[in-house]
Amino acid sequence: MDNTQEIAAGAAIRLGGIAKRYGDVRAVGHVDLTIAPGEVVALLGPNGAGKSTTVDMILGLTTPDEGTVSVFGRTPADAVRAGMIGAMLQGGTLLDDLTVRETVGLVAKLHRRPMPVRDALRRAGVEDIADRRANKLSGGQKQRVRFAVALVSDPDLLVLDEPTAAMDVGSRREFWKSMYSFTDTGRTVLFATHYLEEAEEFADRVVLMRAGEIAADGSVAEVRALAGGRTIRAVLPGGVSEHLVSTLPAVTSFELRGERVALSSSDSDTTLRALLAAVPAVRDIEIGAVGLEGAFLSLTSDETEGAVR
Ligand code: ADP
Ligand code: MG
Repeated sequence: MDNTQEIAAGAAIRLGGIAKRYGDVRAVGHVDLTIAPGEVVALLGPNGAGKSTTVDMILGLTTPDEGTVSVFGRTPADAVRAGMIGAMLQGGTLLDDLTVRETVGLVAKLHRRPMPVRDALRRAGVEDIADRRANKLSGGQKQRVRFAVALVSDPDLLVLDEPTAAMDVGSRREFWKSMYSFTDTGRTVLFATHYLEEAEEFADRVVLMRAGEIAADGSVAEVRALAGGRTIRAVLPGGVSEHLVSTLPAVTSFELRGERVALSSSDSDTTLRALLAAVPAVRDIEIGAVGLEGAFLSLTSDETEGAVR
């Protein structure tokens, strides 16, 4: 086993350079991501960022054009078959004529080692509506039933695509409370969301996607700092060393190409003063909101799914 395989085997999810196009649209471009067992990760990004496409590739519902996906060292199909993955998808449907209990029971029968149906109903907070038919449920209740369906195989990994999309604030809180009982047992969760607050509150780690790529990956605090920052672009006549740029105050990341620099700063005023002092000949300075801004603007707006950047 070479090193890459070892890492893949130890990881809950490993994406190695995955890419997916739909015609002219690059839905996901070269994404590398490793998620360790026990991590609760938010895949955060505006509509059209490529979250669902990424999730679908992890679940084996879509095949990447390039790159590899492994889940607990297996192919997605194998991991799903082994009951290791529970999934809650955007726009997944329920069978109208079945009651909640029947729905969850049906899914339990598909798995080798399901948890008792009663437990799944309780954990998802749908015990009290267990005898209701799916066509009599509100949007938020349907989401919780989908959650029960995701839980019932007693999976090691839960993958949730915008799980709280149809819920009001109260149901959202209830939903995440039931999620805690799952993550408390050390299991792995990856959830896609376009709500920054939801990522902040419930994830240990935030992977921010924008235009099919990972724009930031880190703790909530790290990603927040990036989101609040600015970019500075400038020409540095004659060029400067990487060391000089990297030691400017408040710089969070930078790219240096010949005489051109583009950097992100958590405090652009301070960075700029230092840059002017260090390189008095600096010219063509442009300051802009960090590239994440587009993402975060959409995060706070109420666009419907399908609307693109
Ligand atoms: P998100 O879940 O972050 O909103 P998606 O993964 O659904 O993003 O979509 C990423 C991009 O790929 C969007 O531009 C979307 O329109 C496009 N896309 C997704 N699925 C399809 C598809 N089946 N056919 C064509 N384009 C698609
Ligand atoms: Mg989506």
